[in-house]
Amino acid sequence: MQQFTLKSHDNVEKICSHFHLFDYVHHQKESISKDQWNKLVTAGIYLPVIPKSHNGLESKADLTMMINRAAYHNLGLAMSLIVSTLLFADNVIEYGSQDLKNEVIHDLLNNNGQGGIAIIEPKAGSGLSLMQTVAEKVDGGFRIRGSKHWQCFSRHADWWLITAKNKDQPVAAGAFGFYIHKNQEGGFRTVETYASKGLHQIDFGANKLDVFIPEYRRLNLSGTGIPQIYQLVIPTWQQFASLGKGFLSRIYEESEKYVSSRASPDGHLKDIDFVRYRLGNIAACRTICEALFNYVLNSFSTYPKGKREIFPAQCIKVMASDAMLTGAMHYQTICGANGYRYAADNNIAAIAADDAQAFVMLSFPNDVLSLYLAKEFLHKTEVEKNKSFWTLINESGYTHAAAIHLEDLRNELNYCPSGNLELVLSGKILTRIFAITALKAYSPSNQVDQEKISSALLYCVNEIKMTLSERSISKQISKSIL
Ligand SMILES: Cc1cc2nc3c(=O)[nH]c(=O)nc-3n(C[C@H](O)[C@H](O)[C@H](O)COP(=O)(O)OP(=O)(O)OC[C@H]3O[C@@H](n4cnc5c(N)ncnc54)[C@H](O)[C@@H]3O)c2cc1C
Repeated sequence: MQQFTLKSHDNVEKICSHFHLFDYVHHQKESISKDQWNKLVTAGIYLPVIPKSHNGLESKADLTMMINRAAYHNLGLAMSLIVSTLLFADNVIEYGSQDLKNEVIHDLLNNNGQGGIAIIEPKAGSGLSLMQTVAEKVDGGFRIRGSKHWQCFSRHADWWLITAKNKDQPVAAGAFGFYIHKNQEGGFRTVETYASKGLHQIDFGANKLDVFIPEYRRLNLSGTGIPQIYQLVIPTWQQFASLGKGFLSRIYEESEKYVSSRASPDGHLKDIDFVRYRLGNIAACRTICEALFNYVLNSFSTYPKGKREIFPAQCIKVMASDAMLTGAMHYQTICGANGYRYAADNNIAAIAADDAQAFVMLSFPNDVLSLYLAKEFLHKTEVEKNKSFWTLINESGYTHAAAIHLEDLRNELNYCPSGNLELVLSGKILTRIFAITALKAYSPSNQVDQEKISSALLYCVNEIKMTLSERSISKQISKSIL
């Protein structure tokens, strides 16, 4: 298998040379201006997802490197790139008609267009079956009416990928449809602007829709429902490894700098054992994301085009976003009161914690994904209904390499997960087990410092122990709710 290195992606350097302009040090609460976006497009942010036939780079590895570099400077910048390149452009390229692809690619590259995705609704969040926006067949296309909210670029996107429930359409159209709308053509209105806690580079709001979509702008992705919506998001979940690696590299650097210069009666904060322990936790979170990043570069890039595998992507999303938030919270604690104010001259902790918090929630909440990935894991092995969680962990290609690190927990893992409580917690455990598998693959292939790997493994095993302990008390605690 080819091992990717930073050096093999020199073409990304030109694009990334613009990212320092958005760095947390001087760009915390400002949105990205139109002029700045134009410069980013001119620098080539779309090229990694554009096919070679359209003079693009068509390289997921380049995209992965680019997002990692953006996240080092600013998570809002990185999220802007993900939304426009992966969630919008990449899905049009994967599922659009040739006419649609030509139209969209031309507009994104020549008019510096920006694309967004509209899935979530005020009255139907991650419970997608409650979606109320509907698409009806009309002469020459479709009419879509409904409401959406929390969309990245609510007021400013030039293009929208809209998901809607299909109404009065043939069965072959599927339960949900995916439609591309050009904002200039009207009907997508922002009726309220949201004051978000973080990710200030992006505008959010509530949107009302009454739009006409010509036939050729419907995506060729249909099926029985929610799994199709997940297909749109899987490449984005993979990129949480890049977000985590870039962001936590920065958080570790900043933490190191802070504790090395802040005086304490013992010398500096860095000389205090518990501060070093917090720093060690940040380093462990960073190492885990590095291992996931390595997995994305070396495993997903060998997948045949179009293959979007859900289980590893969900594990990466949950594990990386939890690690980002944990790392950001340790950093904020290390910075004391100064970490609790924006634009302090010696740290970026307040804005980093606000930004990191969004990722455990957006692109479907981690609790919901943990539930689904546990179901997916058990479903894949449904034939062996009587096998315990421990047996299945030992048998799955995604988890068996980690089992040797969990021998001490084999009795506690010897249960058959069922019910919402147990499935959510078991899903969380699976994300940590998947991380152990990724760490083991990362260790020999990159001559990585073994101390780093050992700490990260300990961190994952400890999180599994804590989650098992939660399992034993969760029913009791829930009982206290009337
Ligand atoms: C910064 C940001 C950017 C976003 N960008 C976009 C975008 O570009 N496009 C878009 O369409 N949407 C976007 N969203 C919306 C986002 O995807 C949703 O907020 C998210 O999917 C959760 O939906 P919800 O807020 O309705 O929460 P709900 O679905 O109401 O869930 C709330 C909480 O309830 C719990 N919960 C719910 N169901 C279960 C379950 N079955 N088991 C266990 N626990 C459960 C979880 O703890 C969950 O966190 C964005 C959101 C944010 C914050």
